[in-house]
Amino acid sequence: MPPKIIKTVLPLALLFPLASMAAGEEAKPDPRKQLAFEVIDRNAQQMTDISDSLFYFGELGMQEFESTKLLQDTLTAAGFKVELGGAGMPTNFWAEYGSGQPKIAIVTEVDALPGGSQTPGTYERRPLVKDGPGHMEGHNTHGGVASMAAFAVKEAIARHNIPGTVAISFGPAEEQLASRPFLVRGGYFKDVDAVIYLHIRDALATGFGLQNYAAISSVFTFHGKTAHGANNPWDGKDAVDAVELMSIGFDKLREHLRPTYRAHRTITFGGIQPNIIPDKGQIWWFVRDASMPAAKETYDKLLKVAEGAALMTGTTWDVKYAASAWPQLANKAMAEAIQKNIDAVGMPKWTEAEQQFARDFQKAAEKPVVGLRSAPIPFGGRTQTAASNDNGDVSWVVPAAIFTFPSSVPGIEYHEWKAAVTPVSSISHKGQIVGAKVLAASIIDLLTSPELLQKARAEFEVESKKTPYFSLVPPDAKPDVELNRAEMEKYRPEMRKLYLSKAPRFN
Ligand SMILES: [Zn+2]
Repeated sequence: MPPKIIKTVLPLALLFPLASMAAGEEAKPDPRKQLAFEVIDRNAQQMTDISDSLFYFGELGMQEFESTKLLQDTLTAAGFKVELGGAGMPTNFWAEYGSGQPKIAIVTEVDALPGGSQTPGTYERRPLVKDGPGHMEGHNTHGGVASMAAFAVKEAIARHNIPGTVAISFGPAEEQLASRPFLVRGGYFKDVDAVIYLHIRDALATGFGLQNYAAISSVFTFHGKTAHGANNPWDGKDAVDAVELMSIGFDKLREHLRPTYRAHRTITFGGIQPNIIPDKGQIWWFVRDASMPAAKETYDKLLKVAEGAALMTGTTWDVKYAASAWPQLANKAMAEAIQKNIDAVGMPKWTEAEQQFARDFQKAAEKPVVGLRSAPIPFGGRTQTAASNDNGDVSWVVPAAIFTFPSSVPGIEYHEWKAAVTPVSSISHKGQIVGAKVLAASIIDLLTSPELLQKARAEFEVESKKTPYFSLVPPDAKPDVELNRAEMEKYRPEMRKLYLSKAPRFN
C-alpha cells in the first residue's frame, strides 16, 4: 500500500519502516519519531511563519542579518545554544541542542538572489520591489524546515533521553560559494559525526555519489601605466590589453583541457574612456571540473596565462581568491536510511486547486504540463551536474547526505524570477512539513543507531580517501563580508515595509 493512502486513514502507519520490514514481522511505530512528527504537525504554522518571513527579508549572501536574527530569536527561545558571527562572518549561524556525541548537523543556507523580487502567487512578472533581490530559489524555506526538524529532534532527545547533539549550520552566501571552506577551516565540523545537507527542490529525494562540480573563483587585476592615447601612448602600459590577452590566451588553452572542464569569465573593469590608456584592468574567472584536483590543474594553467599576459604588456598582476567549492560527496549508507523515512512519510497530499495552479503555471512558463509530483524519486545514484555548491567542502571532512523536499513546481528553473512565485504558498508549506518530518526522523536514526553511523563512517573513509581533501583558501584569506552590502542597502528600506513582523515560537 502506498504511504500516501495510509496517511489519510491511519497516521501512525507513517512510522512503519515498510521497506525494511521482514516478512511476517510486525512493525512497531518508533515512539521517538512519532513524537517528532506530532511536534511538527503542532508547529507547522510556526515553521512556515519562519520561511515566509525570510522570503520577505529577501537577503543577499553575507547580508542575512534579519534572517539570522529571526532564526536566532526563535531557536534561542526554543532552548538552543546559538552562535552568530563565527569564522569571521557576522551572518554565520550555528545552533546546537544536547550534549556530546554523536553530533549530527543540518547544513543549509538562507540567502536570496539579486533581481529576484516577485509577488508570491502570481506568475505574471510583478516584483515586490522593482529590481530588488528575492528568493528565486526558495532558500527561505530552508530556515523553517531546518529549525523545525531540529526542534522536533530536541523534543525527542529530551523526552526519550537520547544521548548526543543536534546542530544547524546556516552558512552565509551559498549563492556565491563564499562561506563553507571558511567554516571547514574554522573547525566547525571537527566533532560532527554526520551532516545532512538540506535543499528545496520539486521532489522528495535523496541519493548518493558525487554531486555537482568543483569550482574555483578568482579575480585577476592587472596594473599598468596611464598615458594619453594620442599624444604619448608609447609611455603607457595598457592593463586592459592584459585582460584581453588573458582571455584570448585561455581560449587557446581550451582545446587542451579535459572534456569535463568548464571555465567562464567576466570583465569587471575595462578602463574609463578610450583616450586614457588604462592603468587598471580586471577580469573575474570561474574554473570548474568534475574533481577538485582536475579543476586545480586548469586553474594553475590559468595563473600561467595571467603571467604571460602581464609579460606581453609590461604590466604587473595580482590575484584574489573569491570562492571555491568541492563537489558534494553524498553518502550511500545515510541515503538508504533517509530513503526509508521518505517512503514512510510520503509526498504531501495536493489538492486539485494546487495541481491546477501548477499546471497553469507550467503552461504559462512553456514547460511540460505535468503538475506536481505525486511520488518520491526512486532511490539511486544521482548524476553529477556542472553547477557547484560550497557545502561540497563539508562532505570531504565528515560523512554527508543530501536531502531535498518538494516545495517547488517541476520545470520552473531556479535563478529566474518565476521560481520566486511559489516559495510562499500552500505547495511550499506542505512540502516543508514532509521535509521537516523526513529530516527529523533521519537525524533520530543517526543519533540512535551506532551501526548506521559506523557504516556511514566506513564508507566515507574509503570514498573520501580517493581524493584527499585540501583547502583552496589561501592562509591569509578572509571571508568577503562586504559582499552584496551596497546592493542590499539600496533596496532594504523599500523591502522593510513588506516585512511580516512575525515572532514564531515553537511549543
Ligand atoms: Zn540553493
